Amino acid sequence: MKTNEFMALALDEARAAGERGEVPIGAVVVLDGTVIGRSGNRTRALNDITAHAEITAIRMACEALGQERLTGADLYVTLEPCTMCAAAISFARIRRLYYGAEDPKGGGVDNGVRFYAQPTCHHAPEVYSGINEVQAAEMLREFFRGKRE
Ligand SMILES: [Zn+2]
Repeated sequence: MKTNEFMALALDEARAAGERGEVPIGAVVVLDGTVIGRSGNRTRALNDITAHAEITAIRMACEALGQERLTGADLYVTLEPCTMCAAAISFARIRRLYYGAEDPKGGGVDNGVRFYAQPTCHHAPEVYSGINEVQAAEMLREFFRGKRE
């Protein structure tokens, strides 16, 4: 599968999260071309504010491999990760991070603290942004528009 196809899976997870009443963000972890973790946001379902899509997908992937790190794996997520998730991605030793839409309000990669550019960051993934960003951003806009009505 190609980059856009993995991101399409992340968008599926985002859509499913939205249907469960969660903020529609989805993430997929891929190792050697195989999906080893995939999740949408689950903060409401789990009553866990740390259950962002990236974190839950990383947990699933680590469980699948039976290890705490995901060296060589890539993570696809529909929105720029927040600072917490940017850190988790670094700690998990993710090789490449692909994300969809930028998040000027809550992002921690290319906005906010720019976690990977800090001297306290000891592993920075390669970052590719803007993948299927229009769909990712539109899904979030629709969700928050629905919330306001
Ligand atoms: Zn996050």
